[in-house]
Amino acid sequence: EHAAEQHSFEADVSRLLHMMVHSVYSDKDVFLRELISNAADACEKLRYEAISQPGLAADGAPSRILISLDEDKRTLTVEDNGIGMSREELVDALGTIARSGTRAFMERLEAAKANDKAELIGQFGVGFYSSFMVADRVDVVSRPAGQDQAWKWSSDGKGNYTISPVDPADAPARGTRVTLQLMEDAKSYTGKWAVERIIREQSGHVPVPIELVEKAGAEPAKVTDGVALWTKSRSDITKEEYNDFYRGVSGQYDEPLLNVHFRAEGRHEYTALAFVPGSLPFDLFDVERHGRMKLYVKRVFITDDADLLPRYLRFMRGIVDTADLPLNISREMIQESPILAAIRKGVTSRILTALEKQAEGDTENFEKIWELFGAILKEGIYDDFERRTQLLKLARFKTTASGEGHRSLADYVKDMKEGQSAIYYIAGTSLEQLNASPQLEGFRARGIEVLLLTDPVDSFWAPNVQDFEGKSFKSITQGLSDLDKVAGGENKEDRTAKPSDEVNAFVEFARETLKEEVAEVRVSSRLTESAVCLVASEQGPDRQLEKILQGAGR
Ligand code: ADP
Ligand code: MG
Repeated sequence: EHAAEQHSFEADVSRLLHMMVHSVYSDKDVFLRELISNAADACEKLRYEAISQPGLAADGAPSRILISLDEDKRTLTVEDNGIGMSREELVDALGTIARSGTRAFMERLEAAKANDKAELIGQFGVGFYSSFMVADRVDVVSRPAGQDQAWKWSSDGKGNYTISPVDPADAPARGTRVTLQLMEDAKSYTGKWAVERIIREQSGHVPVPIELVEKAGAEPAKVTDGVALWTKSRSDITKEEYNDFYRGVSGQYDEPLLNVHFRAEGRHEYTALAFVPGSLPFDLFDVERHGRMKLYVKRVFITDDADLLPRYLRFMRGIVDTADLPLNISREMIQESPILAAIRKGVTSRILTALEKQAEGDTENFEKIWELFGAILKEGIYDDFERRTQLLKLARFKTTASGEGHRSLADYVKDMKEGQSAIYYIAGTSLEQLNASPQLEGFRARGIEVLLLTDPVDSFWAPNVQDFEGKSFKSITQGLSDLDKVAGGENKEDRTAKPSDEVNAFVEFARETLKEEVAEVRVSSRLTESAVCLVASEQGPDRQLEKILQGAGR
């Protein structure tokens, strides 16, 4: 037996560790992701080195990552058959936190504000050290590919580590075994279900298969197969595989209505695989709710909380995988990243383009998508000025002329009456209610189409949109209508005739009687059967928006 040599960490590790444990990662589960991604990296490195030195992987054993749990000993072990580390490499890689410019880094860290600290540490290789969030001792036994001697690195993460040679019989045939002696309050990481869930969630798509040994002596069971579906090309993926993947990523068991799968190259490199669900996710109208797209960096899961899409696409499910961000990126840093902003823009465009294609090519499917998510997409007309026109083109409406189907604004404009200058709409809570409203009478009589808007969001975008193809939007429950200028309708003469003295006398009477209740009483051509109707004034909210605002207690 050799005596273990005593070493000190370079740089003030204990301070850095303390900061990291307490500020960078809010979520302790990430230690496992870090260890798995190191193990996967080691396997990838071996694959690469073996291209020029085939002897390194002479045994021909396929890459794999083995995770073993031992509840009695309270340990979790991550073992790989990758490139391994020599004694020098253990010292360099695990004994030196900052591989270069340590002092400068520590000084910047001292000076940085809390937010930037997370960013600085994120750019910095601290992955392995996250083990010390859950373990009070970490042993790393490693045997480099092509060598006989194995070494053990051991530390409590408080400032010192030891290195000693180990008997080859106690080391992996090749690669690295990292054993965590878990803290008392981290013993849940010896539970099979908990660990399996974390692996699936965070590392389900690392490129090396992961196996789990649930207790000492048990057979390893495969948890993940080591292939990220989205890295394959569209033509190699079956519908069933897409559907399975969708179910995994969305937690829903229906069939998606559409998938958008593409690889972006050029200034930013990323792959996106996004689905339009086949049914309404239950929490869609929760205001607190962000998107559910998962962000991966180099096939390693980072978060599902990054705003990868605008709010009006929050029903989409899927992933974005990029090589352009550092793996240790902190959540705080993600939200501010300009790279992510560029990716978000790119993915949004591709999704809208895919929806446009459906709208043109597969109208039946698009009808389904619109029925489910149209109300959410319409939020974008209000929110996303840049894509307003695009979204207006996508939008489908029930109108006085739509029958069973829907009409687009292009349909509407194409069929506008001679002399008609506006796109007319009426907003309310249901089609029945709207169809019965007296304001529609004059429009019906003249064969003028009116959009029937029944989603709350309609009352917000419609008054705010300048125009569609040069035609303004006009609520028929508001202000004066220019019906008389429009051709068509049966008894046009009557409508334009000057009101008789009796009518004028009645209007005068109504004005006097209702002067506390209404702003104005006037003769209108919008009615054919009803005697009177209420309209809102030209400026300000229309009737439906008035009601919504009153309902909200404003
Ligand atoms: P990073 O992965 O960002 O480089 P880490 O702290 O996670 O930072 O790991 C530090 C270094 O330790 C790695 O770059 C690698 O050289 C080495 N290392 C860690 N785990 C392994 C492993 N399982 N096999 C081989 N090398 C490893
Ligand atoms: Mg790492």
